[in-house]
Amino acid sequence: MAGETLFISDLHLDSSRPNVVDLFRRFAAQCHGADALYVLGDLFEAWVGDDEDGPVADAVAGALHGVADAGTPVFVLHGNRDFLMGAGFAARSGATLLPDPTRIDLYGEAVLISHGDALCTDDIEYQQLRRLLRDPHWQADFLAKGLAERRAMAVALRQQSREATQAKAEDIMDVNQEAVARMMREHAVVRLIHGHTHRPAMHEFDLDGTPAWRIVLGDWYDQGSVLSCSARGCELRRLPLS
Ligand code: MN
Repeated sequence: MAGETLFISDLHLDSSRPNVVDLFRRFAAQCHGADALYVLGDLFEAWVGDDEDGPVADAVAGALHGVADAGTPVFVLHGNRDFLMGAGFAARSGATLLPDPTRIDLYGEAVLISHGDALCTDDIEYQQLRRLLRDPHWQADFLAKGLAERRAMAVALRQQSREATQAKAEDIMDVNQEAVARMMREHAVVRLIHGHTHRPAMHEFDLDGTPAWRIVLGDWYDQGSVLSCSARGCELRRLPLS
């Protein structure tokens, strides 16, 4: 896989879906030798702190470390589920945590990478929750609680989010095109790769008179999803669950 840079997101890895954890481990074993692996958030269904000691956390961090040890740099952005991944996770997985968004050089092109939830500005209720959860004081209070209590709070938050999501119109939960344009202008790019919405696609549009594209990564529920980019271009691929 030399000459290839791989992007994945929204795996939502969790002990309730061991077949997806297995698929991820097989995928990681095949990444060895790629130019880089980028995980654009929501690697885990939940991450309540770097003291997370479950078997899935160990298996996933170990698989990423294998990729890094084989010489393929691994970069991870936070998603809205695993925003508490910190230095401990980075050490355990051999990955480098990057801020959201980050501008990278992809075979000579400037590309912005992001989880994508910050672009869903039509969902005002979600953006309020996001501000709370990203607040350093809230995070410090949360991390001071015991692991069992944090896990219980994460389950409750997910339940709330599931109920809120069901009550919302589909388009409210997609990205806002004006927010996309603003972020791209701010970082002086015409290329954006993100996840979060679980709507894999390549969107081509005009940004202030320049042809632009935005690639959306797919989730790992009924299959795996990976974006492979080389000097010749980018391609979204599905990985079958066996
Ligand atoms: Mn997400």
